[in-house]
This record gives sequence, structure tokens and C-alpha cells, in this order.
Amino acid sequence: MSPVTHLSCVRCGRHVVAGRAWTCPACGPADGILDIHYDLDRARRTLTRDTLSRRPLTHWRYRELLPIDDAFIPDTPIGWTPVIEAPRLAAALGVRRIRLKDDGRNASASFKDRASSVGVAHALQTGFREIACASTGNAASSLAHCAAAAGLACNIFVPQMVPEGKLAQLLAYGARVFKVRGTYAQAYDLCTQACERFGWYNRNCAVNPYLVEGKKTGGLEAAEQIADDPPDWVAVSVGDGCTIAGIFKGIEQARAVGLTGWSARMLGVQAAGVAPIAELGRALWCRYSAGEKEPGVTGRKPVTQDTGYKPVPQDLKLPACNGTTYADSINCPVPRNWRKALAAVHGSGGAWGTVSDEQIMEAVRETGRLSGVFAEPAAAAVVAGVAEARRAGTLGGDADVLIFMTGNGLKDTAGALRAVGQPHDVLPELADVARIVESEAHR
Ligand SMILES: *Cc1c(COP(=O)(O)O)cnc(C)c1O
Ligand SMILES: [Zn+2]
Repeated sequence: MSPVTHLSCVRCGRHVVAGRAWTCPACGPADGILDIHYDLDRARRTLTRDTLSRRPLTHWRYRELLPIDDAFIPDTPIGWTPVIEAPRLAAALGVRRIRLKDDGRNASASFKDRASSVGVAHALQTGFREIACASTGNAASSLAHCAAAAGLACNIFVPQMVPEGKLAQLLAYGARVFKVRGTYAQAYDLCTQACERFGWYNRNCAVNPYLVEGKKTGGLEAAEQIADDPPDWVAVSVGDGCTIAGIFKGIEQARAVGLTGWSARMLGVQAAGVAPIAELGRALWCRYSAGEKEPGVTGRKPVTQDTGYKPVPQDLKLPACNGTTYADSINCPVPRNWRKALAAVHGSGGAWGTVSDEQIMEAVRETGRLSGVFAEPAAAAVVAGVAEARRAGTLGGDADVLIFMTGNGLKDTAGALRAVGQPHDVLPELADVARIVESEAHR
């Protein structure tokens, strides 16, 4: 039996019956992103620390809060990634404590496995034989992995600029890959059209509310893993906005069902060149500070009741964005899930930050050196964002921060090499090695 009660529109609050539509009929596919609601009273009865202690260490352990019927819950080992204490990184960033939740250790090496695995399970549950998505990389490689593991045919639309490591993953997992001669937006539209024409399940996070539920397990896990010693802040890098919205919802639902008393403040980090959500978030904060009344809770039942999301004004418009960033996984000039991301950060009493590509490159280097976690640029961006938030005074010296490391550095070795420098070229002679060791002795 499905634990889902209904869906609601994050813009207007209207309720939608599960399975009836993927976006709000009143607000349309661009604006009417839906959110999924659960029977939390029922979940609370079986999702306890005691029952969890007997379940496998994968993200499927939270099935009461996933939109998948029990019969379609697979046993693929997604999630339950480690939380790593990083004291030297904390000292370098000037905060009291840093823990890294290393989601680069997922099966396809990114956080996206959480969403893709739920997407594949939902596709099978609803009778699809093929699945598709448009992506600059991790969403695609994780979908190709999850589809291959489940025996579902997979179609991927990528733009021209896709890092080789990610492309190799797609082909190795046996996906049919369309490299689109055009922009990411064009690849996205083409994928949507193909899904309609050929009857494929559409994995794109924008229109598919089920995927954010997969991302929610990052927050549920964090809440369970560090429930008794929780941080004040949770920092996440933001592209489309689904990841931060999902993680926040997970933490809030862990609290709603009584797994923890913790409630985190969310720090959303975007690349300075591609920061439409962060800009909108800051503008909204200015409007409220200037005395504008915040919108009330809309809809028949409060939309915020079980998610912690705080509705933002319906008339908000995303600013146009012409910039770019080297962190390909968060290079989203037209993010689709910005409203949910804003509602999450605002609902948490959180903040937004932006970082330059130079800061991201420095973070790739420093994170690896000071914590032993090799992060792809989009993941390292969040570390740069924590440094920036500390400088701006958003974080105090006493801050305790959990940072989501969303992707592994091996995904994009060309990008990493731009950040980390070159090896020493030596002759096969000890004297040559000694020359370098001695010249660096002062370091
Ligand atoms: C997708 C992705 C993000 C951002 O997630 P959104 O849902 O697009 O905000 C961050 N880091 C990595 C490595 C990603 O692949
Ligand atoms: Zn609506």
C-alpha cells in the first residue's frame, strides 16, 4: 500500500490526486511543481529507531516516506554514505566543526543515485519499459546505472559539453546516448518530446515530483546518523534546486516522525556566474526585511505541515542568467525547482551564498588535501560557500556545519586537473627528487 496521501502545488497550494498529473493544472508545467505528502501518523508507528536498527543500511530503509509500494522497493545498495569528521578543514574554514557526508561514494559516484533509484522504481511500479532524462552528467550517469541494475532500457540526452568520465559511465551502463547539437535547454525539450512520443518515463527532476523524494533520503540519513549530535547548519550546492529542497524535507520529516528533534538551517550555495536562485533568495530576504508581509499558508491543508517548506510569494520571477561556471553539475541558468529550493531555505531560516570559479578550484584542492575527500567541482563549490559564509559573517566561528559532498572528483578529471596543478617532472635519479624535496622544505 502506498504511503502517499496526495500531492500539492508549491506555487498555489492546490491539491492534486496522486497519479493524476505531474504538474499543477492551474500553474502549468513551468511553475506548477508538485510536492508529495505522506501519512505521517502511519509512518511514525513503524519508522522508529528500533525498527530501523534491523533494516539494511541502504536508503530504502525509509520506505514509509518513499512514494514506492513495498512490492517495488528493490534491494540495490544506494545511500547510507559515511559522515566524515574533518577537523583540519574546519580550522582552515574558521568554523568549530565540519562533517562531510560523502555522497560521492554512491554506486555511480554522486548524490543523484538517490533520485534515480526512486525514479526507476517508480517507473517499474507504473508499468514503464523505458526511461529517459536530459542531463549534463550525474543525473544521467546515475539513471543509466540504476536502469542497468533494474533491467530497464535507458535513453539519455546530453549537451555537447559533457565531462568524459560521465559520458564513459553512460556508455558503460549500456544507455542509448543522444549527444544533442544545442544547449542544455534544447536537450531538455527534446527529451520531453521523445518521452511523449515514445512513451518513456521522464526522469527530469523539474516535472517529476517523485525524484525529489529520493533526494530526501540524504536528509533522513543525516538525521539518523547524527541525531544525537546534530550540526546547526547543513550546506548544499544548488543547481536546479531539487537537492537542497529534498535534503531539507528529509530532515523535517525525520523530526515529524520522531526520529530526531533536530531542525537544521540550510545554506544554499550557487556558482556566482549561474546564481539565479541565490539572487532571488537574497532579494526576497530584502523585501521581508523592508517590512513586506510574508504569504500565509495556502491550500486546504497547510502545504508546510509535513515538509517545513515556507511558501514564497506567487508573483516571484526568476532573473535571467547569461553567465556560466566550470562546475558543470550546477551550471543551471534556468533552474526548474527554484521555488521548492527557496521554500526550503526560507523555511529553515537559512541563507544563500555564491562563489566564483576560482574559489571553487581552491576548494577542490583544499578539500582533498585537508579531508581526504576528492570532490568534483560542483561538490567542492559548497566548501567554498561555507568559507564565503564565514567571511560574510553568516556563519560564526562557533558554527557546526554538515556539508553534503554531492559528487566524486573522478567524474571529471580534466576539471580537477585545472584546479590541482601538475606533478613534478623528474629524472629517475634521487638527486633530482632531493632537489625538489629540499626546495620545498620550508613548506
Ligand atoms: C545535481 C548536482 C547538484 C545540485 O543539485 P540540484 O538538484 O540540481 O540543485 C550538486 N552537486 C552535484 C555533484 C550534482 O550532480
Ligand atoms: Zn498551482
